[in-house]
Amino acid sequence: MTDNADLAALIRTIPDYPKPGILFRDVSTLLLDGEGFRKTIDRIAAMVATDTQLIAGIEARGFIVAAGLSYALGLGKLMLRKPGKLPGEKIGIDYQLEYGTDRIELHKGQVTAGQKVVLVDDLIATGGTALAGIELIRQAGGIVEQALFIVDLPELGGAEKLRAAGVEPTALIG
Ligand code: IMP
Repeated sequence: MTDNADLAALIRTIPDYPKPGILFRDVSTLLLDGEGFRKTIDRIAAMVATDTQLIAGIEARGFIVAAGLSYALGLGKLMLRKPGKLPGEKIGIDYQLEYGTDRIELHKGQVTAGQKVVLVDDLIATGGTALAGIELIRQAGGIVEQALFIVDLPELGGAEKLRAAGVEPTALIG
């Protein structure tokens, strides 16, 4: 993996957010930097498998990454949304958080059987969110073998969980 120290320097760390003891990686500072964002998208775009047909982004910061990649590569994008946001018929999946559960949803009929989908988000921590997204796309008939992130927090083991699920995760930083 290239170093990407230039991009890492644009991400600030906020202690004790959202809970005491957590070091939150805040990509809003990277997004403010036009050149930094362009480099981020260009470097992730270079890693997207050439047979990819659709980019799936997880609400909300994953949408920003997905939109950039979709534009750069000329691919459609799929929104994996928090509950209650999608107006059409949908499928959803509940998943565990450290405390409690969450849910993401997908419009029915927006993934076709056998379509190659790459999942993207800003950051992977425990991997629970990304795994839920992968499961949901697979339920819809899509094939997910690659997931891409700006940041991985490897000590939280998310990337290992994705590998165990047959998905190769790559992050620019981490
Ligand atoms: P996971 O499900 O534990 O892997 O958490 C990843 C999800 O939570 C992603 O959608 C991230 O946007 C968000 N997230 C968790 N920790 C952070 C962080 O430190 N910075 C930014 N987003 C985070």
